[in-house]
Amino acid sequence: MNVDSIKNGIVIDHIKAGKSMEIYEFLNLGELKSSVAIIKNVTSRHMGKKDIIKIDESIDVNLDALGYIDHNITINIIKDGVIVKKSHLELPETITNIAKCKNPRCITSQEQDIQHIFKLCDKEKGIYRCIYCESRAKEEE
Ligand code: ZN
Repeated sequence: MNVDSIKNGIVIDHIKAGKSMEIYEFLNLGELKSSVAIIKNVTSRHMGKKDIIKIDESIDVNLDALGYIDHNITINIIKDGVIVKKSHLELPETITNIAKCKNPRCITSQEQDIQHIFKLCDKEKGIYRCIYCESRAKEEE
């Protein structure tokens, strides 16, 4: 696979350096039969360093999930060697079954059939809270 030229596939760009494995795991890219290239610590004019993932296949990616993991990511869809779509991600208003509530007393920890739903409470800081118990989705960073 020539990592510079993908004929048909997806390039996930502007990933915060070091986050590419998290995204790889999250999207289950290890299960794909096609080539996947992870390029780490690429020098970026805007970001200093960034990671890039190139997937030699058109797959559906959950943009909400990726937006939650890292909303600075851009997704390029490549068809016949040309970028046909460039998507900038945003922090989704709500995320369902992407993050799990860590509060052991939360109803989602006690009942198995309840969806894990978090709502964006602070857009500037990217803080999500469980809709049932208001616990934060992520530990303080
Ligand atoms: Zn909760």
